[in-house]
Amino acid sequence: MLKNHLDQSVKSDLSLVSESRFSVGIDVGGTKIAGLLLDGNNEIVMRATLPVPKSSTESLLDGLARVALELIDAAPSEHRERCSVGFAIAGWLNAASDFVRFSPHLPLTGVFVKHELEYRVGRPVVIANDADAAGWAEFRLGAALDYDDAVCLTLGTGLGSAVIANGALIRGAIGMAGELGHVCIDPTGPECACGGIGCLEIFASGTGAERAARNAGLMMTGRELVAAAELGDRDACAVLDDVARPLAQALTMVVGTLDPGVVVIGGGFGTASPYFLDSLRRQYAALASRPESRPLVPVEVATWGPEAGAVGAALLAAHHKS
Ligand SMILES: [Zn+2]
Repeated sequence: MLKNHLDQSVKSDLSLVSESRFSVGIDVGGTKIAGLLLDGNNEIVMRATLPVPKSSTESLLDGLARVALELIDAAPSEHRERCSVGFAIAGWLNAASDFVRFSPHLPLTGVFVKHELEYRVGRPVVIANDADAAGWAEFRLGAALDYDDAVCLTLGTGLGSAVIANGALIRGAIGMAGELGHVCIDPTGPECACGGIGCLEIFASGTGAERAARNAGLMMTGRELVAAAELGDRDACAVLDDVARPLAQALTMVVGTLDPGVVVIGGGFGTASPYFLDSLRRQYAALASRPESRPLVPVEVATWGPEAGAVGAALLAAHHKS
């Protein structure tokens, strides 16, 4: 609660709180650790990457700490001591004790990541879900900058989401708010990596698009599918329409529940195809349009690319008081 209040206060007076504080943000995804250093003006002044060491939890934690320390060392000496560090992690995090409840692609399930990283880095760190961090980057410095209420979706291999309400990142009772990708939209659908059935991300994600293409008899990668749709290939367009449909339905529920000022679509798949975005907007409008009672919520493209998670982690860390 206190954290949310602090987050809310910083947007209106960034300079007062950040005050030339450098911050490190590190995004750990399925294949690589991507870190960056922000200066006090939120400019990226250094980047560092490392393939994800997956052989053990220890090697992964050591790798994360190594990238963090390298970036801290890149800050001017007078800023190193106060340099804050944030990690964006692809997994479900526990809000109270900061352990990872579940991370299907990283050896971090059940690990008290915050404690382990603070021990290795030698200073307090902030950890966040990767989609929450990406959404925070859009809210603070991107497509949701002009709004106090936003829903930011990251469509990559899976579907992550961040909910920002009244200027605060909503974490929920146990830290798992905004997991739109894992709501059931088809009780007869396939089993999800999370253990659920028919989750939205099975259908509305890069992986979902490739699966839909295969089911339609199109033997192509997601990238080829997107390219074919841009060239007007009717079969490819039909597949992307099918991928956008359940997401459009989900948007009507999210908008009805949260009343955001904007919905931001990011992620490698989410931003790759203008056709997909148009289809999503079209289908959402067809389902939701009652102009006399409820204006349509704009569906915008994310400003930040693949670095959204790292930037958001750095911003969350820079303004966290612990
Ligand atoms: Zn799921």
